[in-house]
Amino acid sequence: MASEKGGPLAVRAKRSLGQNFLVDRNIARRIVAALGAPNEGPVLEIGPGQGALTSILAETASRPILALEKDRELARLVKERYPQAGVVIGDGLSFAWEGLAGLPGIRLIGNLPYNVASPMLWEIVHRASGWNKAVFMVQYEVGRRIVAVPGNGEYGALSVWLQAFSTPRLLFKVPPQVFRPIPKIDSAVLSFVPRPPGERPRHPETLSRILATCFQKRRKQLKSILKMWMTESLPEEMSARGIPVTARPEDLSVSEFIWLGERIFGSSP
Ligand code: SAM
Repeated sequence: MASEKGGPLAVRAKRSLGQNFLVDRNIARRIVAALGAPNEGPVLEIGPGQGALTSILAETASRPILALEKDRELARLVKERYPQAGVVIGDGLSFAWEGLAGLPGIRLIGNLPYNVASPMLWEIVHRASGWNKAVFMVQYEVGRRIVAVPGNGEYGALSVWLQAFSTPRLLFKVPPQVFRPIPKIDSAVLSFVPRPPGERPRHPETLSRILATCFQKRRKQLKSILKMWMTESLPEEMSARGIPVTARPEDLSVSEFIWLGERIFGSSP
């Protein structure tokens, strides 16, 4: 197997693991550059694959490089090619993200597997703490949903959740031709900066419940979606916060969802 721009692919891609390998070094450089501060603190790469980003990290940074890869064969390959990287075989969906607190200032990077990028980002932003910045490539449509604002048809649970814990920005679009195998979709590179601890939801579980409840019925009005929790005082409390009961889920801001989740599912009003 040979790639046009990035040298030979050593290992055949496994579709089940969302493997589309980046073979354009200029794009790889742009992604790594977006992480900023090449010599500050450790960096953790998720899904290094055959090392498209790892090789740039290794040539531009003197900081510690860690890599989390689910595919044993690729983990071995990256270990051999980049001995300076500490490679962990593991699953980003079930990884102990809380452990990053022991590596303050860590930056995260990865061309995420398309099939699990959304649930993986969902886990990372609320469980990891102490990280400084992240740069991830995802499917373009998912990237648009992540940065969508209220009133937009692409605004949904993923937008609210990721924006509650971080500030995401869509940096640039990436065409399919720079991967092997060539996917059918465009990709997007996004940066994420964590919100200061005081601004993050204090009870993530209440936010997650209200998002699941509301976005299951995104076309309906809140008075119908929240019927079973509609006490006498709730409409007034909502109205005092600028949330009419006739609003639809896609009209609510991130902070309104945080409040509503705590109000309905939290133990204190
Ligand atoms: N970074 C490489 C590149 O840019 O060419 C590979 C990107 S490829 C889109 C996604 C990578 O994530 C693959 O190496 C794949 O094996 C790995 N991967 C897939 N599922 C994973 C998971 N659940 N946890 C960690 N890595 C995973």
